[in-house]
Amino acid sequence: MSTAFFWDERTMWHGGGNYAFTVPLGGLVQPLAAGGLPESPETKRRMKNLMDVTGLTNDLHVTSADAATTEQLLRVHPQEYLSKFKAMSDDQGGEIGHHAPFAKGGYEIAALAAGLTTAAVEAVLTGAYENAYALARPPGHHCEAATPMGFCLMANIGIAIEAAKATRPDLRVAVLDWDVHHGNGTESIFRERPDVLTISLHQAGNYPLETGYLTDRGTGAGEGTNLNLPLPAGTGHTAYLHAIDRVVAPAIEAFNPDLIIVACGFDAGAVDPLARMLATAETFREMTLKIKALAERICDGKLVLSHEGGYSEIYVPFCGHATLEALSGSKITAPDPMARALNNRQPGPRFDAFLRAEIDHMAQQLNL
Ligand SMILES: [Zn+2]
Repeated sequence: MSTAFFWDERTMWHGGGNYAFTVPLGGLVQPLAAGGLPESPETKRRMKNLMDVTGLTNDLHVTSADAATTEQLLRVHPQEYLSKFKAMSDDQGGEIGHHAPFAKGGYEIAALAAGLTTAAVEAVLTGAYENAYALARPPGHHCEAATPMGFCLMANIGIAIEAAKATRPDLRVAVLDWDVHHGNGTESIFRERPDVLTISLHQAGNYPLETGYLTDRGTGAGEGTNLNLPLPAGTGHTAYLHAIDRVVAPAIEAFNPDLIIVACGFDAGAVDPLARMLATAETFREMTLKIKALAERICDGKLVLSHEGGYSEIYVPFCGHATLEALSGSKITAPDPMARALNNRQPGPRFDAFLRAEIDHMAQQLNL
């Protein structure tokens, strides 16, 4: 087996500083127990713990990486933003964007998260590994070049793509963002770029508000290489797979990339507190299998998953385990303890037919 798993305990030490959720402490605001962020280390640490307990990590090449260098960060983020972030991080942290609080030392941890994704991309492009997973934290897909937001402080995937393109200028990359929130940061960074296809599946009108519309197709030279699929709340297993088959796979196939990167959030999971979708661990397994098969068909299997959101402490580990099983081909399983309950909550036939019709309608609008 040849799947690399990039992670680093230090990324679990990222906290929200003097904030609870995104609200400053003081007055009647009680501090939260787990580092002050809903994007707590617990979901990701428990995912790694589950993989250790079942032995799945033994089937992966587990490793860390260096932090992204300043040169690498500057290919995406302006110096002014990096200097401000670093100064606040050296002091005592704070809130630098929209819903992106961090504690002292947050800059170095964010650069390390970007470094994990960058190393994962490099490892796959050089052929050192067939595919790779980066357990990046803090996440990156909401972070725009000069505006961090939504718990995201550096654009992990954008930084990784630009690092790869620095030595491979002709590289074409497709980014599939199945985090339940809109991948506005990745979209904005590559909005005018014809060499990077960005696709976001997300719950319509969740976060951020005012972005992620079907009609946002990119601008200038990038016209047509951005694609949004805003899905209704309640979208479940079969409709997610239909979206992959009907929209995602044909769009990526037509773009013909050299590499596929998945912005892998698990917050479309049915019990996530920050969304209202009904995906299960099986959904993530099957989406991973479909994208892996697609990568094998069109880009020599080159596939990297970079962790984004996912806020259910109980369920993210099982969704993550299923994803890594599919990615690596490991036979080590972690049976989903919530499968029965969540399968019983899937959309009924009429709602499912409506969801599929919505996806078909959007596919037509996108000329797919
Ligand atoms: Zn999310």
